[in-house]
Amino acid sequence: MTAPVVIVGTGLAGYNLAREFRKLDGDTPLLLITADDGRSYSKPMLSTGFAKNKDADGLSMAEPGAMAEQLKAEVRTHTRISGIDPGHKRLWIGEEQVAYRDLILAWGAQTVQVPVEGDAEASIFPINDLEDYARFRAAAVGKQRVLILGAGLIGCEFANDMSLGGYQVDMVAPCEQVMPTLLHPAAAGAVQAGLEGLGVRFHLGPVLTRLQRVTEGLEAHLSDGTLIQCDLVVSAVGLRPRTDLAAAAGLQTNRGVVVDRQLRTSHANIYALGDCAEVDGLNLLYVMPLMSCARALAQTLAGTPTAVAYGPMPVTVKTPACPLVVSPPPHGCEGKWQVEGQGSDLKVLCHDADGNLLGYALTGTAVMEKLALNRQLPALMA
Ligand SMILES: Cc1cc2nc3c(=O)[nH]c(=O)nc-3n(C[C@H](O)[C@H](O)[C@H](O)COP(=O)(O)OP(=O)(O)OC[C@H]3O[C@@H](n4cnc5c(N)ncnc54)[C@H](O)[C@@H]3O)c2cc1C
Repeated sequence: MTAPVVIVGTGLAGYNLAREFRKLDGDTPLLLITADDGRSYSKPMLSTGFAKNKDADGLSMAEPGAMAEQLKAEVRTHTRISGIDPGHKRLWIGEEQVAYRDLILAWGAQTVQVPVEGDAEASIFPINDLEDYARFRAAAVGKQRVLILGAGLIGCEFANDMSLGGYQVDMVAPCEQVMPTLLHPAAAGAVQAGLEGLGVRFHLGPVLTRLQRVTEGLEAHLSDGTLIQCDLVVSAVGLRPRTDLAAAAGLQTNRGVVVDRQLRTSHANIYALGDCAEVDGLNLLYVMPLMSCARALAQTLAGTPTAVAYGPMPVTVKTPACPLVVSPPPHGCEGKWQVEGQGSDLKVLCHDADGNLLGYALTGTAVMEKLALNRQLPALMA
């Protein structure tokens, strides 16, 4: 019997690749293996669930059985692969070995955990998949005060969402502004002001050092001496691409699993895409890049080797308190920033020495200019 094409992971990368592959090849056996429950969902919706009053079941789009049928595939859930043996084209699930024709790593990124003293670490919730979200929703019932660790894109989205859901939100992060790696300070100021308008309280600079249970909830101790009373803590301090199993199998890894533009790892018949992959030097943890990769890789797996190309990849950040679209300049490109507009409506543009647009951040009503600006942006990977 022909060994199947095996996809590890049923997030947006795994399921979208399977869908694209099935458009081109309806016959080759396809096996998807996932450590989680295999439900299909759109991860970006996790930071909109409180405002929309949707629990995990409400955000789930399809059960794994329905996905298996739709994809003419086997979907193995709650199954964690534990090793890869590239020389023999097989992988390990504990003692069990599974042969593959081609193996695709779509196993995502894991949440970074920060060490915290005290007796309440169990009240810190990372939210990186539907099951995390279900646990957090259950814990949030009847609670009112949430502390968010991290002021990046995901932390700000949760701050906005939970405020709209009726929670009092405090945010702690060891940086001077929100989304420091993504935003010019002017745009960051507009987003922070928008969130403050919803009642979010910012504590930028210190870190959480101790979390302690008290009679009425939790007491969070910050490194600058501030004390915050809260009921729950969301950890949004960052994501790290999963690389350990790949490195142990001898695959080249760097920030992510290293792949070329055909999404090939350093071993024949093993590919990677999505949050875990570093594609020609770029590890982009967003949906648009993984969709481009899924289309290209499906072609390759169906017999037509195809390189991926990335156009401009602007990101719409879900902070309705201050609408934001951002397209940072390509990595390594130096440019000059210019800020137009006022208040929450800012157009922050980055140009090179010849006047070419390299990137932008648009806030408030300025987001309406994104389509016109997108046409001027350089491709991230031509
Ligand atoms: C709250 C939130 C909001 C976001 N909003 C946006 C947005 O607005 N726009 C945007 O572009 N991006 C957004 N993102 C990022 C985007 O959602 C991700 O880039 C994308 O979903 C990653 O998909 P993935 O399939 O690569 O990884 P994942 O969805 O993490 O899937 C990984 C899969 O691998 C499985 N797995 C892991 N290890 C193993 C193992 N050893 N064995 C078997 N299976 C394993 C997991 O169970 C899972 O099925 C957001 C992310 C978050 C967390």
